[in-house]
Parts: sequence; structure tokens; C-alpha cells
Amino acid sequence: MYSVEAMINISRAFRNTSTTALETELSLESLSIRRKMHRIVLYFKMVKGISPPYLKSLIPTHGTTRDRYLIRERGIPVPWSRIVWYGRSFVVQSTRDWNSLDTKLKDINDISKFKIAMKLNLKISKPNKLYFFGNEPAQTHHSRMRLGISHLNAQLFLYIKAVNPDCPHCAGTPESIVHFFLNCPHYTQQRDLMLQRLDALQNTHDIEISNLPPKEKIKIFLQGGSKYDLTINSAIFTEIQNFIEASQRFRVNSSG
Ligand SMILES: [Zn+2]
Repeated sequence: MYSVEAMINISRAFRNTSTTALETELSLESLSIRRKMHRIVLYFKMVKGISPPYLKSLIPTHGTTRDRYLIRERGIPVPWSRIVWYGRSFVVQSTRDWNSLDTKLKDINDISKFKIAMKLNLKISKPNKLYFFGNEPAQTHHSRMRLGISHLNAQLFLYIKAVNPDCPHCAGTPESIVHFFLNCPHYTQQRDLMLQRLDALQNTHDIEISNLPPKEKIKIFLQGGSKYDLTINSAIFTEIQNFIEASQRFRVNSSG
């Protein structure tokens, strides 16, 4: 179980970061998926007879060979639900979930194998290794930018944590991610080095960054390229995080 608090601690994100953004960042499944997973595993134990008898007896089954055949063909009979709250109750909901599973899943008898198969079935994803790549403190600032709330004034301003959204070096220009990475004249030297190194990467690998429009460039800077493997994306992230570090933008007392 992950509380928002725990997710913030894991990702070192700001308190105001949206829960969905954090879940995506950490690849944590939503509460409803976790509940479904928990329910179906408990139901599995009941069906397979590895739960205490009082739980097993909750499942509506019949004893004859024909009934067992029907259960296999049509699923376990869903108890007739007269009122909505009963319809939502554990047995009814889980029976429906169970019946909707593929026969291959229902035929599994080993609980650990069943859990793995269910995770795949519910598309519970593995954490994106790339998002844990890099060294502190640049990695934290990089991931905060991706989450939409970093120390960049335009992001802080959205959460009423900055009095104005302007770049500390360019009055009247919001300090957006695009401004910071691509336009702010204060970081020209650091940016030239980053772009040069990204160009070198582009020349040796089958990737495309330099000709992309700013928004797509930033997407790759923050999330990596969806078509690139972990090695290439890590190499891109190294250059981005080197830039973040070299900019000195997030050093204490330089938040503008
Ligand atoms: Zn600027």
C-alpha cells in the first residue's frame, strides 16, 4: 500500500504533486487495481481450497458432475443480488471478476504463478528504470520537472509557491521548462555543451533530437525517447542531468 506521503518520500517530489503523476512516475498501480488484485487473489484461494473453510463456503457452487461442468463452461454462478450494495459485495464482485478471467488463468493452481499472471493481466507495470537513473541532486530536480512541479518559477507559480513565474535572469519571461533547457541566455555555455554532446550521441546512434520541435525535445529530455532502449536513454539523461548540475539553477540560494 502506498500513501501519497510514501510516494512523495520515495520520489522526493513536492507535496503538491498530483497523485496520478506520482503513480506514473513510480509505476505504482492505482488503489482500485490494487483492491481488485487483492480480491481476486483471495478468491483464488477460496476456489482452490487453500483458504479457511468458512471463506470457501461463501462461494456458491454445486456438487454434481454436471454442475462442475457448467461452472467450468459458464463460470461460478453469481449470487443473485437484489440491492446495489450487495452487488458490490466481495463475493458478487469477485465471482464476476473470476468468471471474466481467461480459462488459462483459472486453471493455474500455484498461487505465486497466479499472482504473476494476474499482474500481467491487470497490466501492472514494472517501475521505469530510467526514472531512477542518475546522481543526486540533479536526478531529483530532473524528476520533479517531469512531475510538473520543480523549483522552476513557472512551475512553482502554478502551485502558488512563487510570487511570479519569471526567470530569475530574464524579467518578463516565464521560467518554463522550455525556457530553462532551450532558451535562457544565462545558460548558453552549459546548453551548447549539452547540445553538442547530444549531437554526438545522435551521430553514433539511430536517434533524432536536434531537429525536433521544442516540445518534443523537452519530452525526450524528461521522459527519454519511447523508441530508444535503456542504454541510449540513460546516455541522454546523463547529458540532461549534467546540464541541470552545470546550470547551478537549483543550488541553495539560487532559486530566484
Ligand atoms: Zn532566463
